[in-house]
Amino acid sequence: MLLNQRFTLILVYHSKIHFKCNISFATHRGWKINTPPLSCFPRIHDDAGGLNPHPSMATASPTLVLLPLWSAGHLMSLLEAGKRLLTRAGGKLSLTVLVIPPPTEHLAAEVQGHIRREEASGLDVRFVHLPAMDPPTDFRGIEEFLSRFVQMHAPRVRAAVADLPCPVAALVLDFFCTALIDVARDLDVPAYVYFTTNAAMMALMLRLPALHEEVTVEFEEMEGTVDVPGLPPVPSSSLPKPVMDKKNPNYTWFVYHGRRFAEADGIIVNTAAELERSALAAIADGRCTPGVRPPTVYPIGPVIAFEPPPEQPHECVRWLDAQPPASVALLCFGSQGFFAAPQAHEIAHGLERSGHRFLWVLRGPPAPGARHPADANLAELLPDGFLERTKDRGLVWPTWAPQREILAHAAVGGFVTHGGWNSTLESLWHGVPLAPWPLYAEQHMNAFTLVAAMGVAVAMKVDRKRDNFVEAAELEREVRELMGGGEEGRKAREKAMEMKAACRNAVEEGGSSDAALHRLAEELCKGAVVSTGK
Ligand code: UDP
Repeated sequence: MLLNQRFTLILVYHSKIHFKCNISFATHRGWKINTPPLSCFPRIHDDAGGLNPHPSMATASPTLVLLPLWSAGHLMSLLEAGKRLLTRAGGKLSLTVLVIPPPTEHLAAEVQGHIRREEASGLDVRFVHLPAMDPPTDFRGIEEFLSRFVQMHAPRVRAAVADLPCPVAALVLDFFCTALIDVARDLDVPAYVYFTTNAAMMALMLRLPALHEEVTVEFEEMEGTVDVPGLPPVPSSSLPKPVMDKKNPNYTWFVYHGRRFAEADGIIVNTAAELERSALAAIADGRCTPGVRPPTVYPIGPVIAFEPPPEQPHECVRWLDAQPPASVALLCFGSQGFFAAPQAHEIAHGLERSGHRFLWVLRGPPAPGARHPADANLAELLPDGFLERTKDRGLVWPTWAPQREILAHAAVGGFVTHGGWNSTLESLWHGVPLAPWPLYAEQHMNAFTLVAAMGVAVAMKVDRKRDNFVEAAELEREVRELMGGGEEGRKAREKAMEMKAACRNAVEEGGSSDAALHRLAEELCKGAVVSTGK
């Protein structure tokens, strides 16, 4: 989930606001989400951040203002949560998405693609594009960049919200947007944080300001383990990347966000009570925020943006159709994961020796000057003869793959993953056990949570000091364990199946996540602010 990118280019583009009514998504697993018919607005064109409301909008229902960041894991998750809130609010709310201009061409194209798809699907949502501004150039890391870039937009966010022609129910802010809590306070509008990752990470973030005072050395130099209420003792080597270097501004920003999360009117988290009881209880009891009122937490997950299956099945899915049930190990590493040849060779040897079937989504290092993983050049990345030798039991897919559809396939029996939280939930939704191979952002913490707290994963030895390198022998052992070998794999499979049932029950009507969504929707409708203090 959390972003991991560096930025070079700025793109300014004009937006188009398009309103339609009544959307219904049906998934191939039979899970159906309906949004209620909301008031219809005409198509509106918006220029460089100015909202040109149609007169009918002046009487529109109170709006929930979402502030997402741009990667799919953040944007689609928040948007999906917003849609579910609309459904739960029974037509009493509308949705406005404030789009901070993405800082790279690549992200801008991605975001535009998502918005186009949402428009085509008939979602009743306003996308309001803020004017572009120059991003910071003197930053040392992505977390610092994102936090500062968002903070710079505060006056524009304030102006855009104040300009909305309808009452504002609340601002719902991405993890990195906590500086905008000040905007909400200024406008006297409630501020909620949408936490795209899990309760374990939230417990750590809420605890971080106090940990910062207690642990005066770098975490990796401290003796013993880190105490995060609600979790087993956390080895410092499992802390998220931005926490590992206190001299880096990324760390300072993490401590800042941790402090500010506690100030929000509520934290909406993409987990279910049944998945993370202990961490959620610790947060609710105030054990993570001694001396401070704990924030109200709404676990509404799993929030997964399912799409209707395409008319023509994807090539990966067709390949899976020919494999026996639960026989294939899926390897896929999120939106940012990639490997250079030495690591790709180790994976190839490990897979070959494991003897198991596999579907490996492999992407290569960014092209010179680019910042995003490139499609894999298999001839350069893989050992000679590997594809030929494994052609009867393996598929290497060199570009973006439809991961959600793949995980839904009965042939998939285990998932070697970077451990992003969206990927994790997608896997658990289908009862697929995991082998987490953390690469960036908060994934080391997720790996620990999945193995030690949730028991749905088998542990993998990743050499963090060598850029998270994994040897062939370790991958071979891991795949054997995951796909049917020993006790650890068996337990993870059983637990993953339990979590599958828990996930599905949670979002059913009357389930724990549905009830949290209901409480939140009621809060939001109650709190709708008529004047935004222009
Ligand atoms: N994803 C995908 N195909 C790919 C790689 C990733 O569909 O080849 C999707 C995946 O299903 C998930 C998202 O991208 O929904 C990745 O989110 P996650 O939080 O797991 O990781 P991130 O990319 O944010 O690190």
